[in-house]
Amino acid sequence: MDMKSIAFDNTYARDLIGFYVPCQPEPAPDPKLVYFNHELAAELGLEPGGDDPSALAATLATIFSGNRLPEGATPLAQAYAGHQFGQFSPQLGDGRALLIGELIDRHGKRRDLAFKGSGKTPFSRRGDGKAAIGPMLREVLIGEAMHALGIPTTRALAVVTTGEQVYRDRPLAGATLTRIADSHIRVGTFQFFATHGSLEQVTKLADYTIARHAPELVGAEDRYLQFFQLVAERQAALVAQWIHVGFIHGVMNTDNMSLAGETIDYGPCAFMEAYEPGAVFSSIDDFGRYAYDQQAKIARWNLARLAETLLPLIAADQPRAIELATEVIDAFPARHRHHWLEGARAKLGLAGQVDDGERIDTALAEDWLALLQASKVDFTLAWRRLADTAGGNEGPLRALFGEHQALDDWLVRWRARCAAEDAQAEASTSHDHAEARAKRMRCVNPWLIPRNHRVEEALDAASEAGDLKPFEQLLEALRLPYEERPAMSRFAEPATASFNQTFRTFCGT
Ligand code: AMP
Ligand code: MG
Repeated sequence: MDMKSIAFDNTYARDLIGFYVPCQPEPAPDPKLVYFNHELAAELGLEPGGDDPSALAATLATIFSGNRLPEGATPLAQAYAGHQFGQFSPQLGDGRALLIGELIDRHGKRRDLAFKGSGKTPFSRRGDGKAAIGPMLREVLIGEAMHALGIPTTRALAVVTTGEQVYRDRPLAGATLTRIADSHIRVGTFQFFATHGSLEQVTKLADYTIARHAPELVGAEDRYLQFFQLVAERQAALVAQWIHVGFIHGVMNTDNMSLAGETIDYGPCAFMEAYEPGAVFSSIDDFGRYAYDQQAKIARWNLARLAETLLPLIAADQPRAIELATEVIDAFPARHRHHWLEGARAKLGLAGQVDDGERIDTALAEDWLALLQASKVDFTLAWRRLADTAGGNEGPLRALFGEHQALDDWLVRWRARCAAEDAQAEASTSHDHAEARAKRMRCVNPWLIPRNHRVEEALDAASEAGDLKPFEQLLEALRLPYEERPAMSRFAEPATASFNQTFRTFCGT
C-alpha cells in the first residue's frame, strides 16, 4: 500500500490556530500491527493493495504507531476543558491523543484520523500519554459492535503494539489506537474557550463546528440557537439508541460528549445483561451519576453546560439568550422520550398508529420493562425472543421467565395491540403479518451484544498471553448482531449471575 501520502485536508490545524498545540507522537521502539479495519480503510479510500501480507503489516505498523507519519499529517493536541463527575476541570485537552489529520471519505464526508496512546502532550499533566493494549482492543470491540448495531460512533482503524511496557497497576503491553471520528469537538472544547478564550474564539469555534456538522445552517441568522437545538436533538436520539441496546457509557463527562452526535470515548462502558435500570458498572462511579437510567438526564445537564458557552452568540441580550437556550433544554426530555418511544415501538414490532397509540404503546413498553426487571430476565434475549413469539414460537421466551402469569397477561395486551394495527393494514392473512412482524423485530432487537464476560475473556487472552484469536472471533461475531447464528451462540449467552454481580469496568487510563 502506498500511504506515504494520505489526501489530508486539515481544516482544524489550518483554521483554528490557537485552539491546539502542535505535537509529535513519541516513537514506538518495536511497533506491531495487531488490528486493522480493512472495511473502514476502504470507506476512507485507504485500502491497501499490492504488498505481501507481512510487508503490509510492517508498513501499517510503522504508520499507525506514528513512527512515520504520512505526508500531509499535521499532528496536534486539541485543547478542551470538561466537567468530570460534575466538577469543572478548566484544562484537560488531549493528554494522550493527537489529531493527525482529516480526510474526505468515499461518501464525501470529512473524518478525523486521530491517535490515542501515542505519548505525552502539553496536556498530559501527570499522565504518561500512553495506553495499554487491553483498553485499546476494548475500544475496537465496543465501537465496532455499536457501528454494527446502527448506533453513531467513532471507530477504530488500527491498533499497533508499541513494543514498550506501560505501567498501570502492573506492567502491560503498550499500544496505540487510530480512531476515526466525524470530529473530536466536544462540549468541553467550547467550555475551554468560553473559560480561557475570547468571545471571538468561541464564535470562531462555533462557526467552524456549524460548517462541519450543520452546513445547512451556515449564514442563517439564528444559526447558533439552531445549532444548539440540532446538537440536543442528536443527543436525544443517540441516548435513546443506547437505552434500547442496554448500553451504559459510564463516563458521560462533558469532554466525552461529541458535538457530532457520535458515541465517543469507550472507557468504563458496559452492556447490561439482566434488566436493571439503575445498573452501574464503572468502578469510579460511586454514586451512580452515569447509571443506565440517568443517561438522558446527564445528556441534558451536559447540554446546559454547552448552552452556557453559547449564550453571547444566541442573543446579545443575556436574559433573552437564557430564555431561548432554556426552551431547548426544557424540551430535551420530551425529544428524548419521542426517540425512545419510536425505538420502543420498533422493538415491539409496532409499525403503525392506532387510536391513543402513544399512551398505549408507552404503557406497553414500560410494563414489558417492568416485567423484565421483576423477573431479572436478560434484556437482549428477552427482546429477541419476543420477536420469535411474534413469529409464532413462544417457547424460547417462556423459558426465560420463571413465573408466567404476568408474562401471559402482558402478551395478551401486546397481541391485542398488534391485532389492532394489523386490522387497519392491507395485508392478506394474519400469518403474513406474523412473519413480517417477526422479521422487522429481528432487525432492531439484536441477538448479539458485546457481553461483558466475553469481552473480558478476549482482552485477557490478548493482554496476558498475546493471544488475539478470542478477540478476532468475538469481533467477527459482533459484526452481524442481528443474525442468529448457532455457531456463534457462545457469544450470545449471558454470563453467570456471579460474574454479573462482581463485574466492574475501569477507566483504562
Ligand atoms: P478520559 O477519562 O479518557 O476521557 O480522559 C480524561 C482526560 O485525561 C483527558 O484529558 C485525557 O487526555 C487525559 N488522560 C487520560 N489518560 C491519560 C494518560 N495515560 N496520560 C495522559 N493523559 C491522560
Ligand atoms: Mg475523554
